[in-house]
Amino acid sequence: MGCSGITPSASLLSNADAALHRAKQSGKADYCVYRESFQLAQDKEHELAREIRLGIEKGEFEVYYQAQVSTQTHAVIGFEALLRWRHLTKGMVSPGDFIPIAEKYGLIVAMGEATIKEACRQAGLWRSEFGRQITIAVNLPLIHLRRNDLVELVRQELGANGLNGSALELEITESMVGSDASAVQANIETLKGLGVKFSIDDFGTGYSGLSRLKDFPVDALKIDQSFIQKMVSNQSDFKLVQVIVGFAKVFGLHVIAEGVERPDQFELLTALGCNSVQGYLMHRPSPVKEATEYLRAKYHIS
Ligand code: C2E
Ligand code: CA
Ligand code: CA
Repeated sequence: MGCSGITPSASLLSNADAALHRAKQSGKADYCVYRESFQLAQDKEHELAREIRLGIEKGEFEVYYQAQVSTQTHAVIGFEALLRWRHLTKGMVSPGDFIPIAEKYGLIVAMGEATIKEACRQAGLWRSEFGRQITIAVNLPLIHLRRNDLVELVRQELGANGLNGSALELEITESMVGSDASAVQANIETLKGLGVKFSIDDFGTGYSGLSRLKDFPVDALKIDQSFIQKMVSNQSDFKLVQVIVGFAKVFGLHVIAEGVERPDQFELLTALGCNSVQGYLMHRPSPVKEATEYLRAKYHIS
């Protein structure tokens, strides 16, 4: 104790808070004794959250785009918007390093709003250049899907850029499908009414019962990349992919495979009847300029 500027009781409280935080992280009904390293970890986290907040204000976050391609026509059917943080000293920071902190510190909604705005603006520009609507998928966490200002934001951005609702796809996760919160249900219904599409990201990794899905108005399933990466060599992964594609077909859903890196995966997915693919084999997530060049070069939009 005795850090300058902090009274013993204040530092005691802050240490207790750090230990409480650590206990919560390790699960419910646990306890934790304070160690100095916890405080250090928490301080680092606070500092990162502060930098993220500043980064948002300074416009350091940039939307990258990754193409989604039809297995039948090889045409681009849309893009996924993936955030990158162009940090002044750290360089390009991946979402894995900032999304969890942004969620924890309540900054994810501001990020999501900026991404939706940017995605709609870009869909409008691509529509002008290519004469057709290109769907852009945006990742949306539960906290954002619950917000009562989400629908208005989407309506406003679609309208401002002269787009139909189907220009925007919202990627949610399996656990959100089961959310019985009325705010979530109401938002999904209104957004669906506007024509906005919904897809389930990382499909196959969650534990939501398939029965929930039959009542949920989702448009597409995105098969998690962990299954795709192993499907050629591992029978269980192959069967799982086969079952997901079959399930999607029975329920009339679009099915897309993520993390396609090799031609053998592409061929197998095509043979199984998977509708589209996304992965380094076709296109790496790129800044808008390169994504636009990719579109121009292929000049091949489905
Ligand atoms: P995700 O939504 O599952 O995104 C797919 C991730 O796979 C992306 O990582 C993408 O760059 C990567 N990927 C694409 N093709 C391949 C491939 O062929 N091989 C491999 N190994 N990886 C591939 P990224 O961009 O680092 O994003 C990681 C996660 O961060 C995303 O996973 C998503 O959960 C989250 N994220 C990204 N952008 C946003 C955002 O704007 N908002 C929110 N809420 N989350 C985001
Ligand atoms: Ca995603
Ligand atoms: Ca995914």
